[in-house]
Amino acid sequence: MAVRRIESIPMLNHNCINLNNQRVIWKPENLIPSWSNSDIDIVKTVKCIIPFELLTLMISIENQAAHSDEFALYLKGNYKDEVLTVFQEYILPKQKVTGASVDFEEDSPVGFNGVIHRHPGNLTTFSGTDAMHINKNYMFSLLYVNHQIPTGIINIQLQGSTKRVQLALDLVMQYPEVKHNLDLSNIQRSIPTYAVGGRSNFKSMFLNENPTFDDEDTSTEEDRKEFQRMFGQFSNGE
Ligand SMILES: [Zn+2]
Repeated sequence: MAVRRIESIPMLNHNCINLNNQRVIWKPENLIPSWSNSDIDIVKTVKCIIPFELLTLMISIENQAAHSDEFALYLKGNYKDEVLTVFQEYILPKQKVTGASVDFEEDSPVGFNGVIHRHPGNLTTFSGTDAMHINKNYMFSLLYVNHQIPTGIINIQLQGSTKRVQLALDLVMQYPEVKHNLDLSNIQRSIPTYAVGGRSNFKSMFLNENPTFDDEDTSTEEDRKEFQRMFGQFSNGE
């Protein structure tokens, strides 16, 4: 892995004043770091695989018990090779809820390192309270809103540091594969039939006729005039 030191350029603050009392506008080239390593992958999100059963469970609890209130579950997840896999196991702890809050009355058991909570409105982002009291205290945190799980975060320990970084989750729902009584061979891909030769690509493309696969545009001058007449406002005046 090649690490190359490049000419050091002083870091400039956004829109700062330099020594000549001239305003320096933020420009990427003013912010070139001292070290460059093109082999480094920049990670902004972590892939998270969610079992579909978790979504079904949240919908079910919502329908049965929490029509307009928040509620939360403790979850288990495993972070490995830059992917967070959420398991089906869950705990529904004792909790006091309102339309805008959840207060856990039981701690999460050992091994339950994540939380999912519901927003009964349409807010698909974490609130300030969520950030302070939920998202900091578990390895991962998911949000359930309107029969979907749109948002999540993970806290990752930095190597050799007591600090953690918090990254957004790139959520992927894992749906079960339904196999019983499905004759998938009933679904056959239709093979389109194309006119062969004789028509111009140019004309057929714009007249919504079957195109040919000729390599050349065989448009005639007449075709071009016809096109101009029909689509003149979009043409480049060719
Ligand atoms: Zn919340």
